[in-house]
Amino acid sequence: MKNNEILVLAEQNYGKIHPVTYELIGKGSELAAKTGGFVSCLLVGPSGIPCEELCYRGASPVYYMEAHCFENADEMLFKENIVSALKDIHPQMVLIGATTFGRSLAPRIAGALNTGLTADCTDLQVDEDGRIIQIRPAFSDNILAHIKTVTDPQMATIRYKEFNEADRDTTRSVDIRKLTPACTVSGIEILSTQELGGVDVTKADVIVAAGRGFKKKEDLVLAEDLAKTLGGVMAASRALVDAGMVSSQIQVGYSGHRVKPKIYIACGISGAPQHLAGMKESGTIIAINSDPSAPIFKVADIGYVGDLYEILPMLTERFRKERTK
Ligand SMILES: Cc1cc2nc3c(=O)[nH]c(=O)nc-3n(C[C@H](O)[C@H](O)[C@H](O)COP(=O)(O)OP(=O)(O)OC[C@H]3O[C@@H](n4cnc5c(N)ncnc54)[C@H](O)[C@@H]3O)c2cc1C
Repeated sequence: MKNNEILVLAEQNYGKIHPVTYELIGKGSELAAKTGGFVSCLLVGPSGIPCEELCYRGASPVYYMEAHCFENADEMLFKENIVSALKDIHPQMVLIGATTFGRSLAPRIAGALNTGLTADCTDLQVDEDGRIIQIRPAFSDNILAHIKTVTDPQMATIRYKEFNEADRDTTRSVDIRKLTPACTVSGIEILSTQELGGVDVTKADVIVAAGRGFKKKEDLVLAEDLAKTLGGVMAASRALVDAGMVSSQIQVGYSGHRVKPKIYIACGISGAPQHLAGMKESGTIIAINSDPSAPIFKVADIGYVGDLYEILPMLTERFRKERTK
């Protein structure tokens, strides 16, 4: 039987809870206040995760399915176990972070439950019947689609950094329910992001993003150097991903990652709406572009009009000197 439970699928990485989980608990609590329901969390992970933290953020109960095999992000193994748990819990709604792992996991779960899924939502509301309206940009961000799934549970992935994290209150009661895994063996060999040589652009405080203004792959060292000097990471526009110059793991934008670093330096990026969709909430935006009419300057706090091949080495040198002072 269906209940009025809004279940947040907690994401963890080697036992550390991903902050998107706290954002979803916050939004879920807002929705539950309107539906008369409650927010719970399902955490699938290795032993020893301090899951009372999820209760302090407002989730109750927290279902904790723990086993050593959940140390690796194996979508198939997670899917089997999550589907089994959801069949017992029967939540009204399941919220999943639109992280790389969440985006890969959610459609597998929805498929197995034979239910609908709205991907990459930017907002959620409640209609007069207490059903959740899932809102997401559509047609290249030109409209905001309002979607209601007619199947249960309603499922949505929500972009990271879209909502504020739920407040932490250690006086909240702690209700943790241990679940037994349905399956603990997978035939898939998992490589970690580090093993794959990747970086997580969503967690960086400083991002130096490269666009089509870079003529050759080897020239990207200019962006990498500046990123390293500032203690940040390099990201890229889709143009460079499509050109095969960088991995899609570092793509920022509508069909890439949504980022909110303290400093975002866009180098040779025009500022197409699909790129802005992924970075416009950044703290300070610095743009380097040879075309003074490039749209990126409309969202930039600081703009350099000129050739990135001259400006980047100058900036790197200047920051390097500042750091060694
Ligand atoms: C459904 C859909 C989803 C998409 N998703 C994404 C996404 O997630 N992320 C994304 O980025 N794009 C996405 N796009 C593509 C997007 O529309 C743009 O095509 C893309 O962002 C352009 O990348 P760019 O700014 O690097 O290249 P361009 O638009 O070609 O801009 C290059 C810029 O570099 C400047 N330049 C050139 N030489 C120099 C130089 N020597 N020094 C300084 N400046 C220089 C130019 O003046 C220009 O402004 C998507 C498109 C669609 C249709």
